[in-house]
Amino acid sequence: MEDKIDVKLTVELAHQCVKCSACRSVCPTYSVVKEERSSPRGRLALAEAVVDGNMPLTEEIARQWNECAMCRRCEWICPNEVEYKEIMFRARYQAKKEVGKFDPVKKAVFTGLAMMGSFPTKIGMKFAPSLMSAYGKLLGKDVPEYNAIYLDTGIPKYTKLMPKPTAKPFGLRGKEVKPEKEKKGRLLFFTGCMIDAFYGKTGENVLKLMEKAGYEVVVPKNIRCCGAPHLYSGEVESFEKLMKHNKEEIGKYEFDAVVVACPTCGGTLKEEYGYPVKDFAEILREEGYITFKGEGEKVTFHFPCHSYTAMKMNPDVYRDVLKNVKNAEYVEGEQAMMCCGFAGYFSVSNYEVASELQKRKIEDLENTKATYVLSDCPGCVFNIADGMYKHGDYKKIKVMHLADYLAERLEE
Ligand code: SF4
Ligand code: SF4
Repeated sequence: MEDKIDVKLTVELAHQCVKCSACRSVCPTYSVVKEERSSPRGRLALAEAVVDGNMPLTEEIARQWNECAMCRRCEWICPNEVEYKEIMFRARYQAKKEVGKFDPVKKAVFTGLAMMGSFPTKIGMKFAPSLMSAYGKLLGKDVPEYNAIYLDTGIPKYTKLMPKPTAKPFGLRGKEVKPEKEKKGRLLFFTGCMIDAFYGKTGENVLKLMEKAGYEVVVPKNIRCCGAPHLYSGEVESFEKLMKHNKEEIGKYEFDAVVVACPTCGGTLKEEYGYPVKDFAEILREEGYITFKGEGEKVTFHFPCHSYTAMKMNPDVYRDVLKNVKNAEYVEGEQAMMCCGFAGYFSVSNYEVASELQKRKIEDLENTKATYVLSDCPGCVFNIADGMYKHGDYKKIKVMHLADYLAERLEE
């Protein structure tokens, strides 16, 4: 952990920015707030001033840093290769230590995430489907179109369209699939918290697609959250513990690469854990012989920020896979690569900015006139479905994970 927060390194990193402002044009929070201090350059300038001792670290500065979605689009566009994430998680770590305020909801969410897959969460999640459906009947609104319940708490930031928990939470753990014919390699599927808890079907579909592509796949039994939410928030100790736990578990398996269907997990496993990581869509593109057939529908795609920023995937991977679906038309929104405003706890802690980004995303997706909105991140799917229910034509437009859409259209 020492090197993660090494002061000298932090100072060096904070001086990387040459203040050209190229990053402002792609920053989602700046596009809403329109203030320099809410731009990447502004946040970096504050970090520089604090490490140089020119400004004290105040609650107001911490607030500016915490208003960032950590999408890393600034890093992606920066001509000077400024390591924004490296700077910002250190800044947030320091801010939490010096001027941090206790947020009980955040604490509960992050503790829950850190425990995902532990014995108590496995037991707790067993009762979640029936509890949520009872709660939904009593206080929420059933939304069968998205297999979800609209939980209206009366407090906007906590009012969400919640996907129903999967019938068998953590049901993929320990699963192994083997292709019938030739074996091209062995993958380890890191499912991620949202697939484990809510989108079990998506996980099954990833296995099905990888098997079809000729890969043997194993799902580790005892993994926890990858730790990305903790690291990005500056909770470095929690992240280190999760990484240690996961590395010990993953170390028990043999594999050629880790496969993911969540680019935030993927980016973290690649950059921090140091594993070879592939998104399932990258494997599908490589194995171009697999064919899919649609039913004459129009589809559009939301590019998860971390797919091209953290995982450094070429966005054409998704375009190529979708253009290869027979009897379906792929159309792209003008803002298809812009952040949807989810960014985990950001959508709660920065509710106004996040919901403006969500509204803009829905408008852009609806402008394409597509009836299927796809993405490759369970968090984006969750947020776009919520946005479609709140602002869009949710009865006509299906919001799905790419793996679900493709698995339904596999040609035998
Ligand atoms: S972060 Fe990069 S793009 Fe943004 S102002 Fe600094 S050097 Fe320019
Ligand atoms: S990570 Fe995203 S939200 Fe944060 S400053 Fe960079 S572009 Fe803006």
